[in-house]
Amino acid sequence: MLCQFDYQSPAQLLKNRIILVTGAGAGIGRVAAKTFAAQGATVILLGRTISKLEAVYDEILAQGSPEPAIYPLNLEGASWPDYQAMADRLYEEFGRLDGVLHNAGILGRISPVQSYNPELWQQVMQVNFNGPVMMQQAITALLAESEDASVIFTSSSVGRKGKAFWGAYAASKFAVEGFSQVLAQELENTTSIRVNTLNPGATRTQMRCDAYPAENPSTVRAPEEIMGTYLYLMGADSKGITGQMFNAQPDL
Ligand code: NAP
Repeated sequence: MLCQFDYQSPAQLLKNRIILVTGAGAGIGRVAAKTFAAQGATVILLGRTISKLEAVYDEILAQGSPEPAIYPLNLEGASWPDYQAMADRLYEEFGRLDGVLHNAGILGRISPVQSYNPELWQQVMQVNFNGPVMMQQAITALLAESEDASVIFTSSSVGRKGKAFWGAYAASKFAVEGFSQVLAQELENTTSIRVNTLNPGATRTQMRCDAYPAENPSTVRAPEEIMGTYLYLMGADSKGITGQMFNAQPDL
């Protein structure tokens, strides 16, 4: 599996790049948004809780990075017209996108498939898979306006090898992996858009706490420690690499 854990980015790697981050209000998405902004990117913070997005907006300004934008959207309730409206709005404001980190996600429940609540199953598929697919359909034309665009889908270890009780979450991440491969091939020869998946690995966030409540959080890496591969994939050093599966941590 490919990994760029120790990647050292040149200063201002993402200068003048316009990058959309979903689930930017908390966890890995929050830190990725701040990291991209620190490298010079104008980041569009997308998520469902405006107060959290505003807090990240303030943190980005406080670190002296380019002013971000906020786009509130709940992937669970959003449908195709919402994604089209989003793409139209971004086109008016920015004219293009240079990258997207599809990061928003929910865990659902750790439970046997036999007793998995069907409504919750649909929710997980909507937020982790169907929503990102519709969003990607809506923004591909915007990414095609860039000379060098990067699409990163967030995967998981259980999206590459099935594991008992991970139910809809595992299924949604397998779906993401498959979709990413299909899209990467479709775009490979006609655009300058690369499409890859990235498995963060065990990372100290609320989702990790929910999945492993008995774990001592200090035994897993913080989001700040795993940004090497995120930067590598978002910046020009990964140009030409597409349809690949990456890990953010070396020991996965
Ligand atoms: P997290 O701390 O729970 O953060 C998830 C983010 O997604 C939050 O900003 C959340 O917004 C947003 N979100 C959830 N539902 C949404 C919806 N319906 N619409 C819009 N945004 C929504 O999780 P994380 O650990 O940072 O996970 C980030 C990604 O990494 C996920 O795709 C996850 O599957 C993946 N991952 C994480 C780990 C890990 O160990 N942490 C391991 C493997 C993969 P709110 O804060 O407003 O709820």
